[in-house]
This record gives sequence, C-alpha cells and structure tokens, in this order.
Amino acid sequence: MTGLEYGVAGGGPSVSLRGSYGLFIGGSFVPGSAVFKTVSPATEEVLAEVTHAATEDVDRAVAAARQAYERVWSVLPGRERARYLLRIARLLRDRAPELAVIESLDSGKPIRQTRDVDLPLVAAHFFYHAGWADKLAYAGFGAAAAAPPNPTLPNPTLPNQALPNQALPNQALPRPLGVVGQVIGWSSPLLMLAWKIAPALACGNTVVLKPAESTPLTALAFAEICAEAGLPPGVVNIVTGDGQTGQLVAGHPGIDKVAFTGSPEVGKEIAKSAALWGKRFTLELGGTSANIVCADADIEAAARGIVEGVFIRQGHACCASSRVFVAREVHDHLVAAVRRRMAALRSGDPLDEATDIGAVNSRGQLDKITELARSAEADGAVRWSAPHEPPDRGFWFPPTMFARVSEEQRIAREELCWPVLTVSSFATPDEVVDRTNSTRYGLSAGVWTRQGALSAWLAARLRAGVVWANSFGGLDPAVPFGGFQESGFGREGGRHGLEAYLDLPGAWTPDV
Ligand code: NDP
Repeated sequence: MTGLEYGVAGGGPSVSLRGSYGLFIGGSFVPGSAVFKTVSPATEEVLAEVTHAATEDVDRAVAAARQAYERVWSVLPGRERARYLLRIARLLRDRAPELAVIESLDSGKPIRQTRDVDLPLVAAHFFYHAGWADKLAYAGFGAAAAAPPNPTLPNPTLPNQALPNQALPNQALPRPLGVVGQVIGWSSPLLMLAWKIAPALACGNTVVLKPAESTPLTALAFAEICAEAGLPPGVVNIVTGDGQTGQLVAGHPGIDKVAFTGSPEVGKEIAKSAALWGKRFTLELGGTSANIVCADADIEAAARGIVEGVFIRQGHACCASSRVFVAREVHDHLVAAVRRRMAALRSGDPLDEATDIGAVNSRGQLDKITELARSAEADGAVRWSAPHEPPDRGFWFPPTMFARVSEEQRIAREELCWPVLTVSSFATPDEVVDRTNSTRYGLSAGVWTRQGALSAWLAARLRAGVVWANSFGGLDPAVPFGGFQESGFGREGGRHGLEAYLDLPGAWTPDV
C-alpha cells in the first residue's frame, strides 16, 4: 500500500501515513506473519495496514523488554531516565498537531478534542513523570515514609548538595517491577498510552504495549518518537493486534505486571489470570458516571457541563457522564437547557474544526449502541435524539437523551462508551446518593450546586474515584484517576499512580 495525505479542513497540519506498519520491537519496526487494516470510522476508508502480533512476536517483544530492563533501563540513573522522558515529551509537543490529525482519523474523535485537549495532556504526562524519575527515593514511599529522617541524606531541593549513589538504606528504596505488559482500549488511544508508559518508564520499568485493534496508529507514531528520542532499544515495544494479542501480552509469563484499560469483562479475566500467577496488576475499566444537579445549581453551567461531559467525544470516554440526576424543582428547566445545547451540536467530519461530534469508533461499537438503545425503548424509557443528518458512510449515532429510566433497566445498569444520557429527578440528597451508588461501577461523578458544604457532603458519600464540583471531566497528570468496584482499581496519575509501578521495600539502589 502507498501512504495517503490528510489534513484539517479549513487549514492546519497535514500528515502522510505510511501504507503499512510493522511491530515496534527492540527499537525498530519488524515484520510479522499477518496483517490487518485500520479504517477511518468516519468514512470506512482504509488508512493503513497494520501487523497482527502472534505468539512468537509477543515472545520477541517481551524478550527485548527484558534485555533492555536488565542491561540498561533499571540500572540507568533516574536523572538519565528523566532526560529521555523529557525528550519524548518535547517531541510529542512539537508533533502534537500532526498526532491530533492521526488520532482523529483513526478514532473518529473531533479534531478540537484531540488537538486542544488530548495532545496537550499527552505531552504533560511525560513532562510530569520526567520530574519524578530522579526523586522516587525521596517521595516517601513505603519504608522510606515510615523511617525517621536521616540526617546523612542530602536534601535534593537545595543547590550544591552531593547526591551520592549509595546514600539511602537499601530496604527503604522503591524498585521498579520489571517488564510491564500494557493493554489499552480505543476511547482515548494516545492519552491512555501516555497514562501507562510515562509512569512505567519513570519508575525504571520497560514496556510491551498493545493498542486497540481499531486505533493503532498513534501508538505506532509514538514508536517513531521513541526511536527519534534515541530511547534505548527494547525499553518500549509496541505490538499491534486484536484481543488475542492482548491476551498474549497480559498472560505472558515474562511479564511482571499488567496494566489494562478497557471493559470490565476483559478486566476481570486479566485479574483472574494475574492473581493466579502472582503478578501485579492495575485495571482502569468503564463506568456509568453521574452528574447530580441540585435545585440551587447554575442550570446553564450544569447543562453545558453535562453536554460536554458526554457528547463532545461522542461518549468515547470511560468517565463520560451517561446518567443525570436532577432535583425535581429544576428538572424541566435543566432538560430544556440540555436539549437546546444538544440540538446545536454538529456531527460530521472529525477533521472539520466546526465538528462537535465525530464518528463512533467501529461498526462493532455502533451495533452495541444501537442494540442497547433499542432495548431501553422496549423497557419503557422515552427517547429523544437531536436532529442529525449522518454522512452516507461511516459509523454514526445521534446525541440522544432517555427519560423515564429506572435503576432496574439495562440502560441504567450497563456501561457503554456512547453518546447517550439518561435523565431522572430526585427529591432529597440521601436519595440521590443511594441512586448514584446503585451501580456496580464507581469511576467518576459531577456535583452541581452553589453550596460548598452540600458538594462536600455529596462527594464524601459518592462511591466514585473522582468527583468534580461545578465542572466535569477535567484531568491533570498530577491528580490520580481510577475507580471503585467494577470500574477497576489502582490509580493512574500523581504520586499514587507511581506506586503501581514500584516494588516498594527492596534491594534496588537507584543511582540518583
Ligand atoms: P475491551 O476490553 O474490549 O478492549 C480493551 C483492550 O483489550 C483492547 O486492546 C482489546 O483488543 C484488548 N482485549 C480484548 N480482549 C482481551 C483479552 N481477552 N485479553 C486481553 N486483552 C484483550 O474494551 P474496549 O476496547 O471495548 O474499550 C471500551 C471500554 O474501555 C469501555 O468499557 C470503557 O468504559 C473502558 N475505558 C476505560 C477507561 C478508564 O481509564 N477507566 C478509559 C477508556 C475506556 P481489541 O482492540 O482487539 O479488542
């Protein structure tokens, strides 16, 4: 296949994709035995041919990661690892416009989302974790946190303090885990990659990552960036393929830890297999996140937050706010405000600056969405969809709201990355807490009220990993993110996220 040129409608960067991509193993692209095609969900056009990694390919990737771990990465001083991470961060920042185009093409997300939100966060994750790489021994992890202050230690915050290699007692030092197998989904492909790879490398681990079958292109572009940054071969390996390849990575005996982002069903399988083999694992799974609008809320602000929280990425986010609970007194006012905003959303070409809602990521996902929406109607929920004229080709679903939804209906219980929200009213704060917590999930929630005490009261009772007050969906590399119950466990981001990539008390001595 030959490469094709793409660009943002109305101006902006253009990119040329290679016609075909190999697997990124041991620092270069290598062929595999089979290929598959990745398509644009907005046009169904084939974007590139990508290699399907089989058992022997995953074996090679894990072996490359092991060698790089033992010979180079785990013995490299933290400050040197930081330099590589910074180089990667700068390249990501410099190539952000081009990477945003690739992400929009392959995932269907609008360019305004990929360029203005995802890509800045991707670079920020690498900058942030570069800052940690040489400070892990001072971060108060494990035994180090419990130990009394050691007057012989240098203070790394003061200038001209010598940082001797062996200054810390061995048992107090955090160590890397080894080779990490990482499997991610399609909802925010490059951002999920950054959430996984940046902390893993900062902590001294090496990586074998499998992106989703339907969105492999930005992970492959990231592989090119690793090579351009001069990252030692084998520190990052990218193997593309389907769920079987994911299983090979997650279940590989040479992997020391599995980090997974995806569906609760696959997450449970991974948890079982990792537990059986005594491997560490963290799971970032789905959710049915709620927005709670209290009677005193700024209704227009809440309507904007609700619409942006679910529709702007066509629901392709684990934390998309698919449930809205609104105080009875302001129910009609809020529904009218949300509908007005939904009706103004423009669906269409993800590369058009004016597009609010892009394409559903794959035909398979569109089928799941259509099926669940039909079952909601059959269960008695009342549907309203915004006016929508989908293009002739591609995978599209209109922004949709369901009313008269009860907690027993499938639509209220199942999680799906989709451009759909359910709205129901509540009478008291206790009731809304019970109903919000009545799912198997617990990823995130939004609370809309002018009373600080009420938002604090609600936040303390909601079983959600993140609770936003008078806003929804803001992310920051320094703030840990993760869920309760079937939304997974373990945290990504911040100091908590580093713990997932470290063996805390141990014998490894970093040369800081
Ligand atoms: P899946 O669980 O189907 O897939 C996630 C990844 O796992 C993909 O790379 C997939 O490959 C791979 N995979 C599939 N089966 C297996 C298996 N048996 N063993 C190992 N790996 C496997 O989820 P989706 O891709 O459908 O992603 C959507 C889900 O992800 C939603 O539930 C969403 O809520 C959640 N999500 C969670 C986030 C969070 O941070 N909590 C962030 C974003 C999404 P393939 O692509 O070929 O299927």
